[in-house]
Amino acid sequence: MNGPTLSIVIPCFNEEACLGELHRRVTAAARGTVGSSYEIVLVNDGSRDRTWPMMQALAHDDPHLVAINLSRNHGHQLALTAGLDLCSGDRILIIDADLQDPPELLPEMMATMDRQEADVVYAVRRQRAGETAFKKATASLFYRALSRITDVEIPVDAGDFRLMSRRALDALLALPEQARFIRGMVAWVGFRQVPFLYDRAERHAGETKYPLRKMLAFALDAVTGFSTAPLRIASHIGLWLVAASVLLLLYIAVGFVTGSAIQGWTSLMLVVVVLGAVQMFVLGMIGEYLGRLFIEAKRRPLYIVSEIAGEAGGRRALGHVAETIATKETPGVSEIRPIA
Ligand code: UDP
Ligand code: MG
Repeated sequence: MNGPTLSIVIPCFNEEACLGELHRRVTAAARGTVGSSYEIVLVNDGSRDRTWPMMQALAHDDPHLVAINLSRNHGHQLALTAGLDLCSGDRILIIDADLQDPPELLPEMMATMDRQEADVVYAVRRQRAGETAFKKATASLFYRALSRITDVEIPVDAGDFRLMSRRALDALLALPEQARFIRGMVAWVGFRQVPFLYDRAERHAGETKYPLRKMLAFALDAVTGFSTAPLRIASHIGLWLVAASVLLLLYIAVGFVTGSAIQGWTSLMLVVVVLGAVQMFVLGMIGEYLGRLFIEAKRRPLYIVSEIAGEAGGRRALGHVAETIATKETPGVSEIRPIA
């Protein structure tokens, strides 16, 4: 009898330079840990390079591989969601395609899960090699700020690299939101979650798919998804302004009594400009929440699958999808064509 079946889920966007090495190292790690009862679920997130043909070729040769092609680039968190939806293991390892998170840690993470009877073993970065000082500083600052304003204990310095039990994954998949900050959603789910320290390696090849613009959008999703504190900013600023205006009133009253009232235009403009800026900022904050509310209200599927490749894997995934369709509303599967 084999051990628990393991699914390794990997979102890939323009990762042609990493795929071969990724497949080799992940396979070695999985074999060394669970023998042959594993599957590797690769999700192609609308890559513009040779990632998808390479995935198809790999899936053709390796019966353990399931390759999912999304209809376009849906973004890291949604690509990951697609893989998580379609994987079938009792335990699930989430890992990046660029080998920054070493697959060789799998046996230790499995052992930690067994020993501590945990549902989630999340990897915490002790060190991050090959990343700019700017990225490290902003990431560190961001995670600390986030943990201050949220009620959920979102672990500091942890990415999506983690091992999860099936019940934790099912709980995660029950959360329907579009704006997905998966590391936070996993924390929200609860159960027993334990950290696992590791040193983050450099990218195997290629460059980061998270430019500053995407990082900022991701950070906003995190904040708005897990905290309504920014919405209270207006009332806080308002209270301070009330106090300030009382002082200003006193000042004006004194000026009126002593007859030294009329003064220049500068102070007036200053107040107008500052108040205008504060109002715009607060309106913008409200807009961020309103926009997300609007997007959620449309209830669109999270992603669209265009095809699934992989011999046994493809059929298994297909069965899984069919089951999903039969039992509940499926998350946007348009056409499934296993290559067999
Ligand atoms: N990724 C993705 N879709 C995207 C951007 C990234 O599937 O739109 C994948 C990417 O291929 C990688 C993972 O998400 O496997 C993390 O991306 P990356 O390593 O570039 O981010 P970083 O480690 O620099 O934060
Ligand atoms: Mg990376």
